[in-house]
Amino acid sequence: MERILKDRHIKRKVLVVDDESINREILGNMLQDGYDVAYAQNGQEALDKLKSGEETFSLILLDLLMPVMDGKEVLKICREDPALSGIPVIVLTQEKEAEVDSIRAGADDFISKPYSMPEVIRARCERIIDLYEKKSLIDSAQTDPLTGLYSSEFFFEYIKRLEKYDDGAMDAIVMDIEHFHLINEIYGRDEGDRILEKIADILKKEAEDSFGIACRFAADTFYLYHSAMEDHGALVDRIIKEMGDVSLSPAKIRLRIGVNRAVDRNETPQLWFDHAKYACDGLRRDYTGNLAYYDSRLNDRHLYQAKLIHDIDRSIEDHDFVVYFQPKYGIQGDRPQLRSAEALIRWKHRELGMTSPGDFIPLFEENGLVQKLDRFVWEEAAAQVAAWKEKFGITIPVSVNVSRIDIYDPKLEERLLGIIEKNSLTSKELYLEITESAYSDDAARLIEVVKNLREKGFRIEMDDFGSGYSSLNMLTTIPIDVLKMDMKFVRNMLKDEKSLKLCELVMDISRFLEVPVVAEGVEEKAQLDRLKDMGCEIIQGFYFSKPLPAEEFEELIIKEKSDSVS
Ligand code: C2E
Ligand code: MG
Ligand code: MG
Repeated sequence: MERILKDRHIKRKVLVVDDESINREILGNMLQDGYDVAYAQNGQEALDKLKSGEETFSLILLDLLMPVMDGKEVLKICREDPALSGIPVIVLTQEKEAEVDSIRAGADDFISKPYSMPEVIRARCERIIDLYEKKSLIDSAQTDPLTGLYSSEFFFEYIKRLEKYDDGAMDAIVMDIEHFHLINEIYGRDEGDRILEKIADILKKEAEDSFGIACRFAADTFYLYHSAMEDHGALVDRIIKEMGDVSLSPAKIRLRIGVNRAVDRNETPQLWFDHAKYACDGLRRDYTGNLAYYDSRLNDRHLYQAKLIHDIDRSIEDHDFVVYFQPKYGIQGDRPQLRSAEALIRWKHRELGMTSPGDFIPLFEENGLVQKLDRFVWEEAAAQVAAWKEKFGITIPVSVNVSRIDIYDPKLEERLLGIIEKNSLTSKELYLEITESAYSDDAARLIEVVKNLREKGFRIEMDDFGSGYSSLNMLTTIPIDVLKMDMKFVRNMLKDEKSLKLCELVMDISRFLEVPVVAEGVEEKAQLDRLKDMGCEIIQGFYFSKPLPAEEFEELIIKEKSDSVS
């Protein structure tokens, strides 16, 4: 810090408060070479300057006897105001007693009038400023024991200071490691630690070379504050090249780097890095590269998502979320038979209009809010099954989506059983769809949760099978009741040979596991026929129906009842 501030010839700002212009002038002349000096003629003017926040002062030189508001009053206010208490105050006095009084009142030092020996005065100013800066840094300084990088508190404190004195263009850069938990699981924690240490070393060096700073913000997330550069690709290349030294092949480590270029000084440092992180997180679903910039398009999306997050609670209360139902038909008999339905959430947003789950579910999955929605959907779905049972005398089981985060909810089973009981249903009447990607997180936990739910009678469907990367080995250990084939295979099955082969492969796996397959996304008769030939039992897709509001879905139930009679 010191090195950087000195290297950059940064001039601190000092406020000289004295009602006599000659005194202001003498002090000003003494200090102006080393400091940027501002003046106030009385206490009130000094406070106005200090509180306006337009300038950041490193020291106040304060006369005690002044008209309008005297120095004692200013000192008192400065010591009580948290925004000002971090600025050291040196009192300017003529009387000996006042020196002791003012130190008691919170002054840090005093200088006696008339002013003599400019070197002594300059040295005192410098010492006090230095002391304050060091103290506040020490207060926030903590390093991460693993990597030796600074804590995030220190990191932001440092940036705040640096920024006061220097307005050169800087970039906020966030870097993280894809699937870091998997590296830990597969190669062991020591290997994981080694990778983190290596990245930290690389970033430390980058920071030093650029008058910047780096920190480890979270487990595998690093922040780098760096003087603005043209080509971040070169930075990425340097990092990847250096990563080649760790024992794992760099091809196995995917780094994601988000950059907020030439940060906007009107925003807070936290926001600069939030933006860079947002760009970085966006790379999760994008494998085209490992570098992303925060730009106006991302900014719009960020704001849109912030709005969705902000509005979720009110929308639940106002019933702006509605559950739609999409039928699943058995296709192996003479005629398609309505077997069950999937509950799919819809958001009728008051300002944004109908919002697709594709927009908000992944977002709420990331921040955990999806749990609120899921519980709402489970309640609504169960109530609907019960209502149809009452109205039509038959059960149309409804499957609900269970997010991966729900798996970690210790009360999951209790909640689901509670919902069933409240609606006088059995666990056979509410199916649970768990997406395949949940299966890679914590296999042991998932197996246990699924086993317990099955023991209670719930039927477990593995959703989007083929989209994630659960191993075959995993499939044989996890007890499931249904495979839902990922929509992308069906979409292309008649267009390309590979997708067709994959559909056949899923059918083979289902026979091996002795569970039926639900094919999603079936839109055409030709797809249905082909799937039927392959032995697929159940179909869900626009060919039969889009997801419908409950009232419209009832028409399908009525039709089913009349078809089954005739
Ligand atoms: P999913 O669970 O795999 O649901 C199937 C999605 O495929 C639904 O999209 C459905 O409308 C769509 N779909 C069905 N048939 C066809 C078809 O023939 N063609 C095409 N193009 N699409 C079809 P939707 O409703 O937009 O939901 C998207 C995803 O959002 C769902 O995928 C699910 O992962 C998630 N989701 C929806 N509701 C909930 C919920 O209540 N909780 C959770 N956790 N996730 C939900
Ligand atoms: Mg589903
Ligand atoms: Mg699905």
